[in-house]
Amino acid sequence: MEGKSFIDAEKRIEQLRTEIRHHEYLYYVQDMPSVTDADYDILVKELRELEAVYPELIVADSPTQRVAGQIKGDLTAVKHITPLLSLGNAFSQTEMEEFDSRVHEGLPEGAEIEYVVEPKIDGLACSLIYEDGRLVRAATRGDGSVGENVTQNVRTIKTVPLVLRKLEGEEYPSILDVRGEVYMSRHSFMRLNEERQQKGEQEFANPRNAAAGSLRQLNPEITAERALGFFAYGIGTGALASHNESMDLLQKYGFHTTEGRTKVKTIAEVNELIVAHDKRRKTLAYDTDGVVVKVNAVWQQNILGATGKDPRWAIAFKFPPEQAETKLEDIVLQVGRTGVLTPTAILTPVKLSGSTISRATLHNEDFIAEKDIRIGDTVVINKAGEIIPEVLKVVPEKRTGEEKPFFMPTTCPECDWPVIRKEGESAVRCTNPHCPALGREGLIHFTSRSAMDIDGCGPAVINQLIDADLIKDPGDLYLLTKEQLLKLERKGDKSVDNLLAAISASKTKGLDKLLFALGIRHVGAKVARTLAMKYRSMDGLMIAGEEELSTIPDLGKVIAESVVTYFADPANQDLIERLKELGINMTMSVEGELDENHPFYGKTMVFTGTMPALDRVSAQAMAQDVGAKVTNSVSKKTDYVVAGIEAGSKLTKAEQLGVTVIDQEKFLQLLNKQ
Ligand code: NAD
Repeated sequence: MEGKSFIDAEKRIEQLRTEIRHHEYLYYVQDMPSVTDADYDILVKELRELEAVYPELIVADSPTQRVAGQIKGDLTAVKHITPLLSLGNAFSQTEMEEFDSRVHEGLPEGAEIEYVVEPKIDGLACSLIYEDGRLVRAATRGDGSVGENVTQNVRTIKTVPLVLRKLEGEEYPSILDVRGEVYMSRHSFMRLNEERQQKGEQEFANPRNAAAGSLRQLNPEITAERALGFFAYGIGTGALASHNESMDLLQKYGFHTTEGRTKVKTIAEVNELIVAHDKRRKTLAYDTDGVVVKVNAVWQQNILGATGKDPRWAIAFKFPPEQAETKLEDIVLQVGRTGVLTPTAILTPVKLSGSTISRATLHNEDFIAEKDIRIGDTVVINKAGEIIPEVLKVVPEKRTGEEKPFFMPTTCPECDWPVIRKEGESAVRCTNPHCPALGREGLIHFTSRSAMDIDGCGPAVINQLIDADLIKDPGDLYLLTKEQLLKLERKGDKSVDNLLAAISASKTKGLDKLLFALGIRHVGAKVARTLAMKYRSMDGLMIAGEEELSTIPDLGKVIAESVVTYFADPANQDLIERLKELGINMTMSVEGELDENHPFYGKTMVFTGTMPALDRVSAQAMAQDVGAKVTNSVSKKTDYVVAGIEAGSKLTKAEQLGVTVIDQEKFLQLLNKQ
């Protein structure tokens, strides 16, 4: 560093700024980073160090001087009441001690300092504005002073109160600016990526980017499907005398605040808590990338103030990335339920965050080409979302020249049929509609919880049944006998009885579950329910034409085409005929026939607020069962808004638009047509 001449340093600084800005664009605007956070942090560190040696080269728009982030063109901009800052980083106990010294030096001599230590949630920052207790606006951090308006999307997050809980004897503050992190749990992240992979869409790199991508887009219904969460970690306007008191207040108002928040007096205690959190974090349902340490007293925070973009009274301790180096021995292909060929790396087993890793996903052929991954390479792996092992990069210095590039085959490894890659998709698929891999994966899907929900019939049992030649398609499941099952390894009398009972019970699931279970391309659980509600029987659906199907709201041409193609295949027709003969319910399990004269039949309804006697999901299902269409947002097309207690802006909007508003009592009355 010292050795660099002024000219060299100037050149390198410019290079670094360009590179960092590019990564910030991919990360903050596209939600699709191309390098790891650790690699990005190294570039920022180098820039920071060079700027420290040559302060005359610091400019106001250097990435070290401003909060990164830009407004996505299609979202509207919102000015924050008070700026949303970033946080300075520390990577070692020594750096934490330096932070402690800076805090002591910045405060009057003898000031007693308390620190609050809490997990650093790996999501994206949001500011939620409550006016007189009601959520009126939500915005992302953006560049710190201007963020993106994501109010409608944030309203779909179940852990965000639309109306604050009323505290006894207290008025709502006229303005409350709640700061917190929107995040996606690891489970939802994995499910989302699985779905995206099957659809040939680009997967998200980690739960943080998935949360950002899900929040920063135009359709609140998509956000609602993505199961995001919110942890409050601060108050902008409306804070109490200390951070801890503010957090307690937010908890009383109904927010989830960061779990494990602890108040201590010394930096030694802080460092102990950091070690403890590092051990605990793998057990959490969401990613944390460090620990945030904050000076508790607000008067002290005010004295300490902020540098350009980071408060001086808080710091983020970042955990080192968990990575390991190993050899990529081979690349094998797995064929999924929808025929997508997924390349998987076979690795020399290596220990990573407590487990032994011998395989890692390579996503698709573009991923392999982009990173120039070759068989025989030494690679660095990490765990995406701390769970799924992933190849991060190749170590080119360790190449011997023996490495072999990988090419996607032109035929399916399971059945030898040709494979295709459609324009605009990254996925390569087998073209054989009866590929054996589809059968196996299809059976696993058929029995899964959100489909026919056959308890005790997971992937291991399905594989056993296929290997024993007992099943080939879902129909065979319903012909299994006790005698056959008893011959399987690890299957005793009781578990066989339970399995047979579960198989039998699945017969009555109903058309919506069955349609989803059949694994028709593009027919997820929601589309399956829409189809089942509309046609009410398999026979009715099977004769529906593409044109008719494509006019159904939320369906469109691609799904319509896929449904028609599925039912036109004689093998699928045979399967459905067999399932019918075996007694599987092929109708929608609503009581009685739909009555076209019912007041809710064909009406568009929105539910808002809480209902004392009913939970919202049951109320919505009851309305759907009599033929209503339930949506999330109020528009001129809405026929009824069912408003419970503490109904928020949906109620206001309905009143503005003149939409009929009914309460729970009236809803039940009309539902039962009394
Ligand atoms: P940051 O994520 O390091 O820290 C600040 C943020 O922490 C706050 O804005 C807030 O959203 C969050 N936070 C979580 N829990 C908190 C809590 N309990 N209290 C207070 N704040 C809490 O800073 P940043 O400026 O948002 O982003 C930098 C991060 O983004 C780094 O980790 C960097 O590696 C990564 N990044 C990566 C790339 C890439 O290409 N991979 C590009 C840009 C940035």
